[in-house]
Amino acid sequence: RNCYMLDIKTLSSLVLGKDYVAQSDFRTVNHAITGEPIYQVSSAGIDTKAVVDYAKEYGSALANWTFHQRANALKLVAQYLLQRKEDFYALATATGATRKDAWIDIEGGIGTLFAYSSLVRRELSDETTLVEDAWIPLSKNGTFGAKHILSPKAGVAIHIDAFNFPVWGMLEKIAPTLLAGVPCIVKPATEGAELTHAVVTAINESGLLPEGSLQLICGQTYDLFDHLNVQDTVTFTGSAATGQKLRAHPHLNAYSIPFTMEADSVNSAILSPAANDETIDLFVREVFREVTTKAGQKCTAIRRAFVPADLLETVQTRLVEKLQKVVVGDPSREEVTMGTLASVKQKLDVAEKVEQLSQEAEVIFGSHLRKDFSLQVDDEEKSACYPPTVLVCNNPSQAENIHRIEAFGPVVTLMPYRDQAELGALVARGEGSLVASIVRNADENIEAVLKKIAPWHGRVHILDSESARESTGHGSPIPLLVHGGPGRAGGGEELGGLRAVKHYMQRTAIQGSPDAMTQVSHSWTAGAQVFEDRVHPFKKSFDELRIGERLLTARRTVTEADIVNFGSLSGDHFYVHMDKIAAADSLFGERIAHGYFIVSAAAGLFVDGTPGPVIANYGMENLRFVEPVKIGDTIQVEFTCKQKTPKAQRDPAEKAHGVVVWDIKVKNQHNELVATYDILTLVERSA
Ligand code: NDP
Repeated sequence: RNCYMLDIKTLSSLVLGKDYVAQSDFRTVNHAITGEPIYQVSSAGIDTKAVVDYAKEYGSALANWTFHQRANALKLVAQYLLQRKEDFYALATATGATRKDAWIDIEGGIGTLFAYSSLVRRELSDETTLVEDAWIPLSKNGTFGAKHILSPKAGVAIHIDAFNFPVWGMLEKIAPTLLAGVPCIVKPATEGAELTHAVVTAINESGLLPEGSLQLICGQTYDLFDHLNVQDTVTFTGSAATGQKLRAHPHLNAYSIPFTMEADSVNSAILSPAANDETIDLFVREVFREVTTKAGQKCTAIRRAFVPADLLETVQTRLVEKLQKVVVGDPSREEVTMGTLASVKQKLDVAEKVEQLSQEAEVIFGSHLRKDFSLQVDDEEKSACYPPTVLVCNNPSQAENIHRIEAFGPVVTLMPYRDQAELGALVARGEGSLVASIVRNADENIEAVLKKIAPWHGRVHILDSESARESTGHGSPIPLLVHGGPGRAGGGEELGGLRAVKHYMQRTAIQGSPDAMTQVSHSWTAGAQVFEDRVHPFKKSFDELRIGERLLTARRTVTEADIVNFGSLSGDHFYVHMDKIAAADSLFGERIAHGYFIVSAAAGLFVDGTPGPVIANYGMENLRFVEPVKIGDTIQVEFTCKQKTPKAQRDPAEKAHGVVVWDIKVKNQHNELVATYDILTLVERSA
C-alpha cells in the first residue's frame, strides 16, 4: 500500500450517486504482462453507513417493481452492455486474458443477465412477491389453510468478488439480487477492479435501474459490515482463508446475516476404469482445457485428475503432448494461445503452491522448477506468465498437500487409483468441491461412482462421446444449475435458476381463510368468495374479468355410448373403458369413462362457442383424476377465474392481451371431485 497517490489513474468508488475518490492508502495494480503500474485503488475515508443507507433509501424502489419490470430492465441493461463490449475487452488485456478468456468473463456475464431475465419472465407472475405453493389445507371444512410467500428482503446485498472474473463474477450475483427486488453494493477484487468499474459505470449511465440499486466500493470495505442489519445479506467469492475470517465477523453473527461463501476448491476429474481410447482422449482434452483456459484461474478448474493405475502412463503422455503445443505469453501476440495469471503476486503464490505440491508429487511438465517451457513475453520477471504444469503423485492415499492445496493457476496433479473404494475415499479428501467430471465410455454405468462422490460436490459433469459434442464443459457454471459446493468450497449455493433469486427474499408461511389468501396471493383459492353473472366469462375481456368469477355449468350424464364413441374416436381401447369382463376384475369393478373424455366433456360444458375476447387455450396444468366416472354418473363443472397476468404488447399490430388461469373442478352427482386442473387462456384486453 502507498500512502500517496501515484501519477496514474485512480479508480473511484461509485456510491451515493457520484464518484468517491480517496486521498490516501492506495493499492497499485500492475499490468499483468508488462508489470507497469496501471491504476491505483483506495476507498479510504468512505462513509460506508451512508452507502448502506443510500441503497435502502433509493435502491429499495426496486421492491415496488414487478418481477417482469425488473426482468425487462435487466434485459435492456444486458443489451446496453453488449453494445459496449469492445471497451471491456480492451480493459481485459491488462489482466493477461486472451480474447477467449475475456469472452467467458464479459459475454458469459452478459449472457447470465439475459438468461436470468428470460427465466424470470417465463417462470414468475408479474407481481412484486412470489407465491411459492398452492393452498395447503389445515382444517376439516376448508376455512383455514396456508401458502408460502416470498417478499424482497428490505435490505441490501453486499457482494465481495474475486479477481478472476471481474465481470461475470459481479453479474452472476447482481442478476438474481436485482430480480428479487434488492439493491446491491459490490466490492470487486482490487486486481481487475478497473473492468468491474467500467461495467458498473455503463450500467449506471444506462439509467435503466433505480438510483442506488447498484453501488461499487473499489478498495476496502472498512466498517461496512457494522452497518448491516437483519434484512441484509453478504456473498463472498475468493480464498477460503478470507471467507472464513469474514464469515466469523461478530456483527454478522449477532444479527444472523446470511453469508454465502464460494471458496477455492480442489476439483476432480475421474477417468473411468474401463476407459477406451476415445474416452481417454476426451479426458485428456477436458483436463487440458481446464489447465489452459484463463491460465487455470477458475474456481471450477480441475486440480486433481484421477486415473486408473494401468492408464496413468498413457494419460500422462497424451496430456504432455498436447501441452507442449501451447504458447504462453502476451495475448496480443498472434501465436499465443494461453494468457497470463492476473498478477505477479498470483504468479508467486502459484509457484509457492507448486513447491508444496512437489513435496508429494513429481513435476513432469512445466512449472518454474523445470524451466522446460518458454514464455512469449518481453520481460518474464515482470510479467505474470506461468507455464502449464503437470504433477504426478503415485501414492495419493499417503499425500496431504495435493488434496488440500489449490495452486490457482495452470496446474494439475495426475494420480492413480486402483478401485472404486479407493477412488471414493481420495475424492472425499478434497473435503468438498464445486464440481467433478466423470469421463466414461458411452455405454458404461457409473452410478456407483456418482453415488460416492455426489455428496461432496455441488455439480457433477458426466462426459462421454455422446454428450461431448454439446457439453458446456467441466468448468462452466450455468445460470440454471447450482454453482457452489459443500465444505472447502464454501458451503454456499449460487445460480441454480430461481433458487438464487429466492435467496434474496424472505419466505413467510401465511395462514388464514381462503378469502384472506386470495387477497394476498392475487390468486383465487378454493373456498374463497365467488361471483356469478349472467354474462358468460368467455364474453368478458381480460380487464372485465374478476378473480373469483365463477360459472357453474349444466350437468351431463355419462353414458355407455359416450365411452364407446370416445374409445373409437381416440383409438384408446384400454380395458377398463372398453372390456366389461376385464374392467369387472379391475380396481374399479366396472367400466369407467376415459379421463381424457372427462376433460373433453368438461370443455363442452364450460366453453361458449361464439367468437369473443378469448383468443386461445394454450395449456393445462396440475391435472389430477380424483375419482372414477362410471356409466350413469352425472358430471358438472365449476369454472373459476383464478389468476390474471397482463402481457406486454410486443408490437402495436398485436392485440393487447393477458393470460387468464381458470380453476376447473369437475364433480359428480354426489358433489365429489372427479377431476381438477387449471387451464391457461389468452384473453384480449378491453379496447
Ligand atoms: P481473497 O480471498 O483475498 O479476496 C477475495 C475478495 O475478498 C477480494 O475482493 C478481496 O479484496 C476481498 N477481501 C480480502 N480481504 C477482505 C477483508 N478483510 N474484508 C473485505 N473484503 C476482503 O483472494 P485473492 O483475490 O487474494 O486470491 C487468493 C486466492 O483465492 C487465490 O490464489 C485462489 O486460491 C483463491 N480464489 C478463489 C476463487 C474462487 O472462485 N473460489 C476466485 C479467486 C481466488 P481485495 O482484492 O481488495 O483484497
